[in-house]
Amino acid sequence: MPVVLFEKKTYPFHRVCGEYVSNETLPFLKHNGLFPEKFEPPSVSRFQLSAINGKSAFLPLDLGGFGISRYAFDHFLSQQARAAGVQVAENCEVSRVQFNQDRFVIQANDHTLEADVVVGAFGKRSRLDVQLNRGFIMKRSPYVGIKYHIKTNHPDDLIALHNFNGGYLGISNVEAGKTNLCYLVHRNLLKHYHTIPALEENVLFKNPHIKNIYANSTFLFEKPEVINEFSFAPKEPVYNHLLMVGDSAGMITPLCGNGMAMAIHAAKLATDLVLQQVTEKQPRKWLEKSYQYAWKKKFAGRLRYGRWVQHYLFGSHLSSDLAIRLALYLRPIARLMIKQSHGEPF
Ligand SMILES: Cc1cc2nc3c(=O)[nH]c(=O)nc-3n(C[C@H](O)[C@H](O)[C@H](O)COP(=O)(O)OP(=O)(O)OC[C@H]3O[C@@H](n4cnc5c(N)ncnc54)[C@H](O)[C@@H]3O)c2cc1C
Repeated sequence: MPVVLFEKKTYPFHRVCGEYVSNETLPFLKHNGLFPEKFEPPSVSRFQLSAINGKSAFLPLDLGGFGISRYAFDHFLSQQARAAGVQVAENCEVSRVQFNQDRFVIQANDHTLEADVVVGAFGKRSRLDVQLNRGFIMKRSPYVGIKYHIKTNHPDDLIALHNFNGGYLGISNVEAGKTNLCYLVHRNLLKHYHTIPALEENVLFKNPHIKNIYANSTFLFEKPEVINEFSFAPKEPVYNHLLMVGDSAGMITPLCGNGMAMAIHAAKLATDLVLQQVTEKQPRKWLEKSYQYAWKKKFAGRLRYGRWVQHYLFGSHLSSDLAIRLALYLRPIARLMIKQSHGEPF
Protein backbone atom coordinates (compact mmCIF):
# COMPACT_ATOMS: atom_id res chain seq x y z
CA MET A 1 0.00 0.00 0.00
CA PRO A 2 1.78 3.24 -1.06
CA VAL A 3 2.22 5.76 1.76
CA VAL A 4 3.22 9.44 1.50
CA LEU A 5 4.36 11.46 4.53
CA PHE A 6 4.17 15.24 4.20
CA GLU A 7 6.38 17.36 6.46
CA LYS A 8 6.40 21.12 6.09
CA LYS A 9 9.93 21.43 7.47
CA THR A 10 13.15 19.60 6.54
CA TYR A 11 14.71 17.01 8.87
CA PRO A 12 16.60 17.34 11.12
CA PHE A 13 15.15 20.22 13.11
CA HIS A 14 14.69 21.18 16.76
CA ARG A 15 11.31 21.45 18.41
CA VAL A 16 9.99 22.28 21.85
CA CYS A 17 9.73 19.01 23.77
CA GLY A 18 11.13 17.53 26.99
CA GLU A 19 12.58 14.68 24.85
CA TYR A 20 11.83 11.98 27.41
CA VAL A 21 10.29 8.95 25.69
CA SER A 22 8.29 6.62 27.91
CA ASN A 23 9.42 2.99 27.88
CA GLU A 24 5.89 1.90 27.03
CA THR A 25 7.07 2.38 23.42
CA LEU A 26 10.04 0.00 23.70
CA PRO A 27 8.43 -3.27 22.46
CA PHE A 28 6.95 -1.50 19.42
CA LEU A 29 10.09 0.50 18.60
CA LYS A 30 12.43 -2.48 18.99
CA HIS A 31 10.18 -4.86 17.06
CA ASN A 32 10.06 -2.46 14.10
CA GLY A 33 13.72 -1.38 14.08
CA LEU A 34 12.74 2.08 15.30
CA PHE A 35 14.63 2.21 18.60
CA PRO A 36 17.43 4.78 18.10
CA GLU A 37 20.10 2.51 19.54
CA LYS A 38 22.99 4.06 17.61
CA PHE A 39 22.55 7.30 19.63
CA GLU A 40 22.94 5.41 22.92
CA PRO A 41 20.06 7.30 24.55
CA PRO A 42 20.38 7.54 28.34
CA SER A 43 17.97 5.41 30.31
CA VAL A 44 15.85 7.28 32.89
CA SER A 45 14.58 5.51 36.03
CA ARG A 46 14.28 8.16 38.76
CA PHE A 47 12.07 11.19 39.18
CA GLN A 48 12.72 14.33 41.21
CA LEU A 49 9.99 16.81 42.00
CA SER A 50 10.60 20.18 43.61
CA ALA A 51 8.21 22.79 44.97
CA ILE A 52 8.66 26.49 44.29
CA ASN A 53 10.52 26.90 47.59
CA GLY A 54 13.02 24.22 46.54
CA LYS A 55 11.78 21.44 48.80
CA SER A 56 12.16 18.26 46.78
CA ALA A 57 11.45 14.54 46.72
CA PHE A 58 12.79 11.62 44.70
CA LEU A 59 10.72 8.69 43.47
CA PRO A 60 11.56 5.67 41.35
CA LEU A 61 9.99 5.54 37.90
CA ASP A 62 8.56 2.04 37.65
CA LEU A 63 8.37 2.01 33.86
CA GLY A 64 10.90 4.75 33.08
CA GLY A 65 12.00 6.03 29.71
CA PHE A 66 14.90 7.14 27.58
CA GLY A 67 16.16 10.54 26.46
CA ILE A 68 16.75 11.53 22.86
CA SER A 69 16.57 14.87 21.10
CA ARG A 70 13.77 15.34 18.58
CA TYR A 71 16.50 16.60 16.25
CA ALA A 72 18.02 13.10 16.21
CA PHE A 73 14.93 10.96 16.83
CA ASP A 74 12.55 12.50 14.27
CA HIS A 75 15.27 12.47 11.63
CA PHE A 76 16.08 8.84 12.40
CA LEU A 77 12.38 7.87 12.21
CA SER A 78 11.99 9.64 8.86
CA GLN A 79 15.00 7.73 7.51
CA GLN A 80 13.56 4.43 8.72
CA ALA A 81 10.22 5.29 7.11
CA ARG A 82 11.96 6.03 3.82
CA ALA A 83 13.89 2.76 4.02
CA ALA A 84 10.57 0.94 4.53
CA GLY A 85 9.20 2.43 1.29
CA VAL A 86 7.36 5.53 2.54
CA GLN A 87 7.63 8.52 0.22
CA VAL A 88 8.77 11.28 2.58
CA ALA A 89 7.90 14.68 1.09
CA GLU A 90 9.86 17.24 3.12
CA ASN A 91 9.50 20.99 2.90
CA CYS A 92 5.98 20.25 1.72
CA GLU A 93 3.12 21.87 3.59
CA VAL A 94 -0.39 20.48 3.20
CA SER A 95 -2.76 23.39 2.77
CA ARG A 96 -6.03 21.56 2.17
CA VAL A 97 -7.61 18.16 2.69
CA GLN A 98 -11.05 17.58 1.20
CA PHE A 99 -13.22 14.51 1.42
CA ASN A 100 -15.35 13.90 -1.62
CA GLN A 101 -17.13 10.79 -2.91
CA ASP A 102 -15.28 8.46 -0.58
CA ARG A 103 -11.83 9.83 -1.57
CA PHE A 104 -9.52 12.47 -0.14
CA VAL A 105 -8.00 15.23 -2.24
CA ILE A 106 -4.85 16.66 -0.71
CA GLN A 107 -3.17 19.88 -1.72
CA ALA A 108 0.47 20.28 -0.75
CA ASN A 109 2.68 23.00 -2.19
CA ASP A 110 1.80 22.90 -5.91
CA HIS A 111 0.71 19.27 -5.95
CA THR A 112 -2.68 17.61 -5.71
CA LEU A 113 -2.89 14.04 -4.59
CA GLU A 114 -5.72 11.58 -4.02
CA ALA A 115 -5.85 9.03 -1.20
CA ASP A 116 -8.16 6.46 0.35
CA VAL A 117 -7.06 7.20 3.90
CA VAL A 118 -5.58 10.33 5.49
CA VAL A 119 -4.00 10.23 8.93
CA GLY A 120 -3.82 13.67 10.55
CA ALA A 121 -0.49 13.88 12.41
CA PHE A 122 0.07 17.60 12.18
CA GLY A 123 0.63 18.32 15.86
CA LYS A 124 -0.88 20.71 18.37
CA ARG A 125 -1.89 23.46 15.98
CA SER A 126 -1.65 23.64 12.22
CA ARG A 127 -3.10 25.64 9.36
CA LEU A 128 -5.00 22.45 8.58
CA ASP A 129 -6.95 22.85 11.82
CA VAL A 130 -8.02 26.26 10.51
CA GLN A 131 -8.89 24.89 7.07
CA LEU A 132 -10.87 22.07 8.68
CA ASN A 133 -12.59 24.59 10.94
CA ARG A 134 -11.94 22.64 14.14
CA GLY A 135 -13.60 24.13 17.23
CA PHE A 136 -10.53 24.34 19.50
CA ILE A 137 -8.68 26.61 17.08
CA MET A 138 -11.01 29.50 17.91
CA LYS A 139 -10.09 29.42 21.60
CA ARG A 140 -6.98 31.19 22.86
CA SER A 141 -4.59 29.04 24.85
CA PRO A 142 -2.62 30.37 27.81
CA TYR A 143 0.60 28.38 27.45
CA VAL A 144 4.06 29.05 26.11
CA GLY A 145 6.72 26.29 25.84
CA ILE A 146 10.45 27.10 25.91
CA LYS A 147 13.35 24.72 25.35
CA TYR A 148 17.15 24.73 25.47
CA HIS A 149 19.90 22.18 25.10
CA ILE A 150 22.59 22.66 27.68
CA LYS A 151 25.82 21.11 28.97
CA THR A 152 25.52 20.56 32.68
CA ASN A 153 26.11 18.05 35.41
CA HIS A 154 22.81 16.15 35.45
CA PRO A 155 22.62 12.39 36.21
CA ASP A 156 21.66 10.23 33.22
CA ASP A 157 19.04 8.23 35.13
CA LEU A 158 17.12 11.25 36.49
CA ILE A 159 14.26 13.34 35.15
CA ALA A 160 13.42 16.33 37.34
CA LEU A 161 10.36 18.57 37.36
CA HIS A 162 10.87 21.87 39.13
CA ASN A 163 7.88 24.08 39.89
CA PHE A 164 7.85 27.84 39.64
CA ASN A 165 5.02 30.28 40.00
CA GLY A 166 2.93 29.93 36.83
CA GLY A 167 4.58 26.86 35.38
CA TYR A 168 7.10 24.04 35.66
CA LEU A 169 10.47 23.12 34.19
CA GLY A 170 11.69 19.65 33.18
CA ILE A 171 15.30 18.59 32.89
CA SER A 172 16.74 15.27 31.67
CA ASN A 173 19.61 14.08 29.53
CA VAL A 174 19.55 13.24 25.85
CA GLU A 175 22.22 11.74 23.58
CA ALA A 176 25.84 12.86 23.25
CA GLY A 177 26.21 14.23 26.79
CA LYS A 178 23.61 16.94 26.28
CA THR A 179 20.76 17.88 28.60
CA ASN A 180 17.29 19.04 27.70
CA LEU A 181 15.82 21.91 29.70
CA CYS A 182 12.25 22.72 28.83
CA TYR A 183 9.48 24.61 30.55
CA LEU A 184 5.84 25.49 30.28
CA VAL A 185 4.68 28.89 31.47
CA HIS A 186 1.52 30.96 31.44
CA ARG A 187 1.70 33.51 28.62
CA ASN A 188 0.56 36.35 30.91
CA LEU A 189 3.82 36.02 32.83
CA LEU A 190 5.91 36.34 29.70
CA LYS A 191 3.80 39.31 28.68
CA HIS A 192 4.35 40.87 32.09
CA TYR A 193 8.15 40.51 32.04
CA HIS A 194 8.46 41.17 28.27
CA THR A 195 11.55 39.01 27.68
CA ILE A 196 12.50 35.41 28.39
CA PRO A 197 15.65 36.32 30.40
CA ALA A 198 13.60 38.71 32.59
CA LEU A 199 10.95 36.04 33.11
CA GLU A 200 13.60 33.49 34.09
CA GLU A 201 15.39 35.87 36.42
CA ASN A 202 12.25 37.10 38.18
CA VAL A 203 10.09 34.00 38.27
CA LEU A 204 11.93 30.75 37.54
CA PHE A 205 14.97 31.53 39.69
CA LYS A 206 12.77 31.72 42.80
CA ASN A 207 13.15 27.96 42.81
CA PRO A 208 16.77 27.43 43.98
CA HIS A 209 17.16 24.26 41.88
CA ILE A 210 16.41 26.17 38.69
CA LYS A 211 18.70 29.04 39.68
CA ASN A 212 21.48 26.56 40.34
CA ILE A 213 21.02 24.83 36.97
CA TYR A 214 21.23 28.12 35.06
CA ALA A 215 24.31 29.19 37.02
CA ASN A 216 26.15 25.95 36.28
CA SER A 217 25.33 25.23 32.64
CA THR A 218 26.51 26.14 29.19
CA PHE A 219 23.61 26.96 26.91
CA LEU A 220 24.06 25.43 23.47
CA PHE A 221 21.44 27.29 21.42
CA GLU A 222 21.87 30.91 20.40
CA LYS A 223 18.26 31.45 21.41
CA PRO A 224 15.68 29.06 22.84
CA GLU A 225 13.07 27.20 20.83
CA VAL A 226 9.67 28.70 21.66
CA ILE A 227 6.10 27.66 20.92
CA ASN A 228 2.86 29.24 22.00
CA GLU A 229 -0.87 28.92 21.55
CA PHE A 230 -1.24 25.27 22.33
CA SER A 231 -4.22 23.76 24.02
CA PHE A 232 -4.91 20.77 26.23
CA ALA A 233 -8.64 21.01 25.48
CA PRO A 234 -10.32 17.85 24.16
CA LYS A 235 -10.25 17.38 20.37
CA GLU A 236 -11.72 14.75 18.05
CA PRO A 237 -9.86 11.52 17.15
CA VAL A 238 -11.84 11.37 13.87
CA TYR A 239 -12.68 14.62 12.11
CA ASN A 240 -14.05 15.04 8.62
CA HIS A 241 -13.08 11.37 8.00
CA LEU A 242 -9.41 11.95 8.90
CA LEU A 243 -7.99 9.63 11.55
CA MET A 244 -6.19 11.96 13.95
CA VAL A 245 -3.10 10.74 15.82
CA GLY A 246 -0.79 12.37 18.36
CA ASP A 247 -1.44 15.98 19.33
CA SER A 248 -3.89 16.39 16.42
CA ALA A 249 -6.22 14.07 18.33
CA GLY A 250 -5.55 15.60 21.76
CA MET A 251 -2.55 16.86 23.69
CA ILE A 252 -1.56 15.46 27.06
CA THR A 253 0.01 17.87 29.56
CA PRO A 254 3.83 17.71 29.26
CA LEU A 255 4.36 16.82 32.93
CA CYS A 256 3.10 13.30 32.09
CA GLY A 257 6.10 12.94 29.75
CA ASN A 258 4.37 10.70 27.28
CA GLY A 259 2.91 12.73 24.44
CA MET A 260 5.33 11.01 22.08
CA ALA A 261 4.41 7.55 23.38
CA MET A 262 0.73 8.34 22.86
CA ALA A 263 1.40 9.65 19.35
CA ILE A 264 3.33 6.49 18.45
CA HIS A 265 0.69 4.25 20.02
CA ALA A 266 -2.17 6.04 18.22
CA ALA A 267 -0.30 5.66 14.93
CA LYS A 268 -0.04 1.92 15.58
CA LEU A 269 -3.77 1.67 16.39
CA ALA A 270 -4.67 3.55 13.20
CA THR A 271 -2.32 1.48 11.03
CA ASP A 272 -3.57 -1.86 12.40
CA LEU A 273 -7.18 -0.86 11.77
CA VAL A 274 -6.50 0.44 8.24
CA LEU A 275 -4.77 -2.86 7.38
CA GLN A 276 -7.69 -4.80 8.86
CA GLN A 277 -10.18 -2.68 6.92
CA VAL A 278 -8.40 -3.42 3.64
CA THR A 279 -8.01 -7.17 4.34
CA GLU A 280 -11.59 -7.63 5.48
CA LYS A 281 -13.04 -5.13 2.99
CA GLN A 282 -14.82 -3.27 5.77
CA PRO A 283 -16.65 -0.01 5.00
CA ARG A 284 -15.12 3.36 5.97
CA LYS A 285 -17.71 3.79 8.68
CA TRP A 286 -16.36 0.66 10.38
CA LEU A 287 -12.80 2.06 10.28
CA GLU A 288 -13.82 5.41 11.73
CA LYS A 289 -15.97 3.94 14.49
CA SER A 290 -13.36 1.32 15.43
CA TYR A 291 -10.57 3.91 15.59
CA GLN A 292 -12.64 6.38 17.58
CA TYR A 293 -13.57 3.65 20.06
CA ALA A 294 -9.97 2.35 20.38
CA TRP A 295 -8.51 5.85 20.74
CA LYS A 296 -10.97 6.91 23.44
CA LYS A 297 -10.49 3.68 25.36
CA LYS A 298 -6.71 4.05 25.38
CA PHE A 299 -6.20 7.79 25.76
CA ALA A 300 -9.25 9.84 26.80
CA GLY A 301 -8.81 9.02 30.52
CA ARG A 302 -5.09 9.83 30.44
CA LEU A 303 -5.68 13.22 28.87
CA ARG A 304 -8.28 14.06 31.52
CA TYR A 305 -5.94 12.86 34.26
CA GLY A 306 -3.03 14.96 32.91
CA ARG A 307 -5.18 18.10 32.91
CA TRP A 308 -6.27 17.35 36.47
CA VAL A 309 -2.72 16.84 37.78
CA GLN A 310 -1.42 19.96 36.04
CA HIS A 311 -4.27 22.01 37.45
CA TYR A 312 -4.14 20.81 41.06
CA LEU A 313 -0.51 19.86 41.70
CA PHE A 314 1.64 22.23 39.65
CA GLY A 315 2.46 25.87 39.10
CA SER A 316 1.63 27.54 42.42
CA HIS A 317 3.06 27.54 45.96
CA LEU A 318 0.09 25.73 47.40
CA SER A 319 -0.27 23.07 44.73
CA SER A 320 3.45 22.34 44.34
CA ASP A 321 3.79 22.07 48.11
CA LEU A 322 0.91 19.61 48.17
CA ALA A 323 2.58 17.56 45.42
CA ILE A 324 5.83 17.40 47.43
CA ARG A 325 3.99 16.32 50.57
CA LEU A 326 2.35 13.57 48.55
CA ALA A 327 5.71 12.44 47.19
CA LEU A 328 7.37 12.56 50.61
CA TYR A 329 4.72 11.16 52.91
CA LEU A 330 2.32 9.19 50.68
CA ARG A 331 4.84 7.52 48.42
CA PRO A 332 2.65 4.58 47.29
CA ILE A 333 -0.04 7.04 46.20
CA ALA A 334 2.50 9.25 44.46
CA ARG A 335 3.91 6.20 42.62
CA LEU A 336 0.42 5.16 41.63
CA MET A 337 -0.21 8.66 40.31
CA ILE A 338 2.92 8.50 38.14
CA LYS A 339 1.80 5.09 36.88
CA GLN A 340 -1.64 6.49 36.00
CA SER A 341 -0.10 9.06 33.66
CA HIS A 342 1.69 6.34 31.68
CA GLY A 343 0.22 3.61 29.52
CA GLU A 344 1.01 -0.08 29.32
CA PRO A 345 3.87 -1.21 27.05
CA PHE A 346 2.64 -1.95 23.54
C1 LIG B 1 6.80 22.01 26.72
C2 LIG B 1 6.51 20.61 26.23
C3 LIG B 1 7.26 19.54 26.70
C4 LIG B 1 6.99 18.25 26.27
N1 LIG B 1 7.75 17.21 26.74
C5 LIG B 1 7.49 15.95 26.34
C6 LIG B 1 8.31 14.85 26.79
O1 LIG B 1 9.29 15.02 27.51
N2 LIG B 1 7.97 13.61 26.36
C7 LIG B 1 6.92 13.38 25.53
O2 LIG B 1 6.67 12.21 25.18
N3 LIG B 1 6.16 14.39 25.07
C8 LIG B 1 6.42 15.65 25.44
N4 LIG B 1 5.67 16.70 24.95
C9 LIG B 1 4.59 16.40 24.02
C10 LIG B 1 5.13 16.01 22.63
O3 LIG B 1 6.00 17.00 22.15
C11 LIG B 1 3.98 15.81 21.66
O4 LIG B 1 2.94 15.09 22.27
C12 LIG B 1 4.44 15.06 20.41
O5 LIG B 1 5.42 15.79 19.73
C13 LIG B 1 3.26 14.79 19.50
O6 LIG B 1 3.71 14.32 18.27
P1 LIG B 1 2.89 14.65 16.95
O7 LIG B 1 3.51 13.83 15.87
O8 LIG B 1 1.44 14.53 17.20
O9 LIG B 1 3.13 16.20 16.68
P2 LIG B 1 4.48 16.96 16.34
O10 LIG B 1 5.64 16.30 16.99
O11 LIG B 1 4.22 18.40 16.63
O12 LIG B 1 4.64 16.76 14.76
C14 LIG B 1 3.75 17.34 13.84
C15 LIG B 1 4.50 17.60 12.55
O13 LIG B 1 3.58 18.02 11.55
C16 LIG B 1 4.18 19.04 10.79
N5 LIG B 1 3.08 19.82 10.19
C17 LIG B 1 2.16 20.60 10.82
N6 LIG B 1 1.28 21.09 9.94
C18 LIG B 1 1.65 20.61 8.72
C19 LIG B 1 1.12 20.77 7.40
N7 LIG B 1 0.03 21.51 7.18
N8 LIG B 1 1.74 20.14 6.37
C20 LIG B 1 2.85 19.37 6.61
N9 LIG B 1 3.40 19.19 7.83
C21 LIG B 1 2.79 19.80 8.86
C22 LIG B 1 5.02 19.84 11.79
O14 LIG B 1 6.05 20.55 11.15
C23 LIG B 1 5.55 18.72 12.68
O15 LIG B 1 6.80 18.24 12.26
C24 LIG B 1 5.94 18.01 25.34
C25 LIG B 1 5.20 19.09 24.85
C26 LIG B 1 5.48 20.38 25.28
C27 LIG B 1 4.67 21.52 24.73
